[in-house]
Amino acid sequence: MPELPEVEVTRRSFADAIAGATVCAVRLGKPLRWPLGVTAEALVGRVVQGVRRRGKYLLLDFDDGLLLLHLGMSGSLGFRPEPPSPGPHDHFDMHTTRGTLRLNDPRRFGAVVYASSEGDPVARKLLGHLGMEPLDAAFDALRLHRGLTQRSAPIKQVLLAGDVVVGVGNIYASEALFLAGIRPTVRANCISRVRVQALHAAICDVLSRAVQKGGSTLRDFSNANGEAGYFQLEAMVYGRQGEPCRRCGTPIKLLRQGQRATYYCPQCQKR
Ligand code: ZN
Repeated sequence: MPELPEVEVTRRSFADAIAGATVCAVRLGKPLRWPLGVTAEALVGRVVQGVRRRGKYLLLDFDDGLLLLHLGMSGSLGFRPEPPSPGPHDHFDMHTTRGTLRLNDPRRFGAVVYASSEGDPVARKLLGHLGMEPLDAAFDALRLHRGLTQRSAPIKQVLLAGDVVVGVGNIYASEALFLAGIRPTVRANCISRVRVQALHAAICDVLSRAVQKGGSTLRDFSNANGEAGYFQLEAMVYGRQGEPCRRCGTPIKLLRQGQRATYYCPQCQKR
């Protein structure tokens, strides 16, 4: 599943190229998770101002209104001057004066939704509950600690829920908790301020490194230029069940939390 680093890498791969482009035509494939909300024709003539990110949504601003794009479970966005004819999994093509933005999404949990503004009920419904942005300067340890004191669920699940901090998906949550030395099962409101400081630093470190490296967690993920990322090669615990911890040699353990796989080192990660 594309996580925040992949979405940010995707954004950076085409944001500059598409800024200033005018929409010439829009082609819709099979239905995605939610309908576009306007006719394809309604987008023609609009001018792209830029591309922002909020959580795992990309916000493509027009001179009037915006598109909210989500990659779902298996989506990837490509922006190319002359893409090949659409295949069976290409469900959204936006042809512009600078190239074609295409969403390829085999499982169709992704979405492209139009909103007249961020205050639009449609946008508020999708973005309103999102927690702090981990790559923003405003995200600090104090705020993270304040958010976690409100939650009694296990820290791993609180991170995944995204209402305290967004975008720390399954892989990055496991990795950040390892770096911070925190057992994934510890209740969020039981973690001391000092340990939350370590967790805050670990989240920033893991996500920014993933973005730098072109972040990928999905085997077939590719950014908008078709280049694969390679973050998974460096995992400390994720996907390493039974293998020796890279720090202490203890075999990495696997447990299930809310249907999701969690990997941790029983020696390095304290309760
Ligand atoms: Zn260890």
